[in-house]
Amino acid sequence: MVRRDEKLVFIALGGNAFQSKGDRGTPEDYWRNATAAAETIVRIVEEGYRVAVTHGNGPQVGIISEWMEGLKARIPPQTLDIAGSMTQGWLGYLLVQAIHNTLADRGLVDRVRGAVALVNRVAVREDDPAWQNPTKFIGAWYTDEAEVERLSKEKGWVFKRDPRGGWRRVVPSPDPYRNVEVEAVKTLLSNGWIVVASGGGGIPVVEKERGKLVGCEAVIDKDLAGEVLATALGAGHFVILTDVDGVYLDFGRDGARRLERVSVDELEQYYREGHFPPGSMGPKVLASIRFIRHGGLRAAIGHLREGYDVVRGVGGTQVFPR
Ligand code: ADP
Ligand code: MG
Repeated sequence: MVRRDEKLVFIALGGNAFQSKGDRGTPEDYWRNATAAAETIVRIVEEGYRVAVTHGNGPQVGIISEWMEGLKARIPPQTLDIAGSMTQGWLGYLLVQAIHNTLADRGLVDRVRGAVALVNRVAVREDDPAWQNPTKFIGAWYTDEAEVERLSKEKGWVFKRDPRGGWRRVVPSPDPYRNVEVEAVKTLLSNGWIVVASGGGGIPVVEKERGKLVGCEAVIDKDLAGEVLATALGAGHFVILTDVDGVYLDFGRDGARRLERVSVDELEQYYREGHFPPGSMGPKVLASIRFIRHGGLRAAIGHLREGYDVVRGVGGTQVFPR
């Protein structure tokens, strides 16, 4: 097991960190949201922690797919791994710029080196059962069944009914097991950089003969990929910031109860009992369980607005080895 660093915090930002509910998704919306996330990150750095950050990309990889679909008569569409790499540049740029300007506002640019975002690949297995069972919704909602049929024939896309209505493309979301650029992340962190990595769960690649890597059509869950990187870095703390103030039992029902402090054994029992649906709270809880089982000191899940408190251990749901 990797030795854990109490002063290293790994933060996973949800899709709402960039486009919150009700936003149209203009560049102004993106900058405002990125700046709010950056302010939380910089406060933590001011406390003397080193910070690595990852982010989701569900909405953005869907937007890029729609652009490609809409323009395909003129511009050949690219593959999903390439679309994923675009979201790392897009959201990575927003974060490093917002962090830089927050540091500048606070007069910290001379004390903190700054932030850097990586184009970052994550390895998945060619025999992962997820290839046979696509679950991750991306892109537009379709209501015309004939169009859905045509697109599945023409492109081989798989569609499923979205619980929120309509049909939506689903893509496989295989389980990540290795971050390809982990040594680069370590080097940057130990040189004082705030590092943005594993964005959107990382660009999915499979390992072939002689160690060759081939990109594939999937979107990895960003919380599960974040755990793989946080563990490899030896982070002490793994913090997931989203749009809900913690993990609930009986979520959405009468008597729903928020977990405040929970042991990993207890949380795993709730996970097995099915309190957390796949595709939203499920992977966050699973990532937290894995992080602690792999030797992490603490995992936490909470609202982005309360990010500073969640990191300090006084907000959200806090998960401990016992
Ligand atoms: P992110 O973009 O941050 O990854 P997700 O939408 O994937 O966010 O997951 C967060 C959502 O999980 C919340 O908005 C909430 O509606 C949903 N959720 C489902 N089950 C639970 C639960 N048991 N406790 C808390 N939130 C839950
Ligand atoms: Mg999610």
